[in-house]
Amino acid sequence: MSDAVTMDKIVSLCKRRGFIFQSSEIYGGLASCWDYGPVGVEFKRNVKNAWWRSMVETRDDVVGLDCSIMMHPMVWKASGHIESFSDPLVECKSCHMRWRADQLEKQACPSCGGELTAPRNFNLMFKTFMGAVEDDAAVVYLRPETAQGIFVNFENVVTTSRKRLPLGIAQIGKSFRNEITPGNFTFRTREFEQMEMEFFVKPGTDEDWFRYWAGERYKWYISLGMRAENLRMREHAKDELAHYAKACVDVEYLFPIGWSELEGIANRADYDLKQHSTWSGKDLSYFDTQDNERYLPYVIEPSAGADRSALAFLADSYTEEDVEGATRTVLKLHPALAPVKVAVLPLSKNERLAPFAKEVHAKLRQCFATDYDDTQSIGRRYRRQDEIGTPFCVTIDFESLDDNQVTIRDRDSLAQIRLPVENLVDTLKTKLAGEAFGTDSLWAGARA
Ligand SMILES: [Zn+2]
Repeated sequence: MSDAVTMDKIVSLCKRRGFIFQSSEIYGGLASCWDYGPVGVEFKRNVKNAWWRSMVETRDDVVGLDCSIMMHPMVWKASGHIESFSDPLVECKSCHMRWRADQLEKQACPSCGGELTAPRNFNLMFKTFMGAVEDDAAVVYLRPETAQGIFVNFENVVTTSRKRLPLGIAQIGKSFRNEITPGNFTFRTREFEQMEMEFFVKPGTDEDWFRYWAGERYKWYISLGMRAENLRMREHAKDELAHYAKACVDVEYLFPIGWSELEGIANRADYDLKQHSTWSGKDLSYFDTQDNERYLPYVIEPSAGADRSALAFLADSYTEEDVEGATRTVLKLHPALAPVKVAVLPLSKNERLAPFAKEVHAKLRQCFATDYDDTQSIGRRYRRQDEIGTPFCVTIDFESLDDNQVTIRDRDSLAQIRLPVENLVDTLKTKLAGEAFGTDSLWAGARA
C-alpha cells in the first residue's frame, strides 16, 4: 500500500481539502512552516485528544500539565541544552548553502559540489529577548522540548496532586528547534507540537517500566487503525544513546520517505532531576512513604510528535481504489481521528428537501462532528467526504419525506443501509464505536 502513497499526493490532498497550507503562502511561504486548515485543525486536535485520553484521562497514575514556552534561562543550562544541543554545521564556500556535516556522505556540497567549511557546533535553540532592553541579561529561549517544564514542576505536581510514585506527568505543546535541514512536509519542521510524558519511578523498577511504555505506545498507534506492517520498534545501540539516556527505543513508521522516527521512548534515569537539584539548589528527591526511603526518581519518557503522528495517520489511511473504472481517493481514518464523523447530504439543493435535511443535521450535530453540504452533484460531495475521511454520509431523498427514512453510506465498504430517522443517532453511535457495514473496514476489530 505505502509504495503507492507519495509525499506529493499527501501534500496535494492536504492543500486541496484544507488540511494543511503553507505558512504565509501569499508572500511566497516561509520555509518548513505549515498552517492547519479548517479540516486539519480538527484532525490534529483529534490526534492530540486521542493521546491525552489514552495517557491521562483513562489512567490513575498520570496527570496533565501546561507550561509556558519561555522559561528561566538556567533551565537550559541545567538540562545541558545550552552546552550541547547542537548539530555540526558546514557551509559551502561557493553557494553558501548550509548542511549538517553528520548527514553528508561526501566532503563536498551536495548542491554544487563546492568546498565546505570546517564543521562548527550550531545550537538549535531559538533565542529571543524578553523585555524592552536587548542585552544579554534578557536573553530567553523558545523551549526545544516540553519535557523540562515537567521536570522543574515535579515537586509542585507531586505535592498538589497528592499522588504517589510511580507517577506520570503529561504535556502537549509547541516546541522550537532551529533545524539546519528541515523538510519533508510536516515531518521535520522548526516549530512543532510535542506530546510528551515523563513517568517518575523508583530506581530499580525503571527497566520494567521502560518495556511497559514501549509496548503501550506501540499499541496506541495500532488501536487507532495504523497498519502493523508499517510500524516497527528500533532499539538504539549504546553508541547512539543521548548522554542522559540509559536506553532508548524508537517507534518507527514507514513514511513515503522510508522508515523514520515517529516517537522515542527513553529511560532518562535520574539525569534531569539530578541536574535541576544541583543547579537550582533545591532538593528534588522524593520520600517514598510506602517503602520508607528517600530517592531521586528515575524517569521513563515516551515522546511523540503531534504533527508527525498526524502525518503518519494521513499516509497510512491514504488509499486509491478503482471503483467502476474510476479512481476513488479515500482517507480510511479511524473514526476517532476523522475530522468529520457524519455528513448530511440532501440528494439535491431543493426547497422541499432542505427543511427535513436541516432537521436531521441539527439532531446529529448534538452528538457528532458533522458537515452539511447541499452544493454540487451527490457524486462530487461523496468524493469530498471520502477525501477528508468522513466515515458516514447520510443522504436524504424525496422518498425520505414520505417514509421518514434516510440512507447511511459507509466510507470503506461503500455499503448503504436505509433506516428510520429515529434510529439514526443510535445506529451511528454504534457504528462509530467500531462496527462498520463491510468487512474491509480499517477499524473493524481495531479497538482491543
Ligand atoms: Zn554549494
